[in-house]
Amino acid sequence: MSYRVTIVYHGDFALCGYPALRDRIAPSFRELERRGLLAREGVRVLEAVPVEEELVFQVHTPNHVRSVQRSDYYGVALLSAGSVLMGAESVAAGESDSAFCYVGTAGHHASREGFWGFCYLNDVAIALAGLRRKGMASRVAILDVDPHYGDGTRDILGSDPSVMHVNFYGGHGRGKVEGPHNHDVPLPYDADDGIFLREVETALQSARSFGPQILFVILGHDGHRDDYGAFELGDGAYEGMAELVKEYFPLKVVYVLSGGSNPRVACRAIGDVVEVLSRRGLDLSGEGPRHGFSRRGMGGL
Ligand SMILES: [Zn+2]
Repeated sequence: MSYRVTIVYHGDFALCGYPALRDRIAPSFRELERRGLLAREGVRVLEAVPVEEELVFQVHTPNHVRSVQRSDYYGVALLSAGSVLMGAESVAAGESDSAFCYVGTAGHHASREGFWGFCYLNDVAIALAGLRRKGMASRVAILDVDPHYGDGTRDILGSDPSVMHVNFYGGHGRGKVEGPHNHDVPLPYDADDGIFLREVETALQSARSFGPQILFVILGHDGHRDDYGAFELGDGAYEGMAELVKEYFPLKVVYVLSGGSNPRVACRAIGDVVEVLSRRGLDLSGEGPRHGFSRRGMGGL
């Protein structure tokens, strides 16, 4: 049986996760239950297991690992990376069209030797190492829509010819774009849904032409106007994004939770993304999501 979406979760993300990130975890998971999404055909929930340390050492230096071990978050960071690897494996194996991976610590600011901003281990880089070790996938695209610069991911994977890294952030100018397939997408601090969704579509066009075996979407909902990051996105932004992602990548998509603190925003964003992923196929009837996005996306311009 092939699932439409595999949700990877663990109660420890709410209990032991980084304080700024953990209050949204349990409410947003309950929201999935409240909407009836967990009972929908083709939806399953897996309990995350910690990633093997051997994979962590393939990505991070021994110094870095020792530093994280001395923090309070090593255990939950291993569990978070394990969540992403489980989701990625289920998609790479064809068991599931898509995955949504909960985490208790974030990953995109964790570089080979250094970490900040609620990030400890680079969950996506570790998951990719795990996929490559088993020969399940090697060529991937990463769409990071968290409004903070994904410096750790760029440090680890930016020079990898088999990785495309499209990196959204609030601000001006360009970051470290060297490397064969890196795209920086600076957006105004007050970027609205229309600007955001247009850039998402451009990014997806690039990602599709790259021909990845898997698309990772690093979902920080801290770009919402009621959360703590840059951008001024509204309630419909993440649904619109998920619809676009599904249009360009109906299969082989792994969502990885990233920044965001506000439980209300998380309930809406995660609920909407999982709702889109759990729908049967893509509705191209004219009443479907693409057209809905266009109306909403243009409305604020
Ligand atoms: Zn962020």
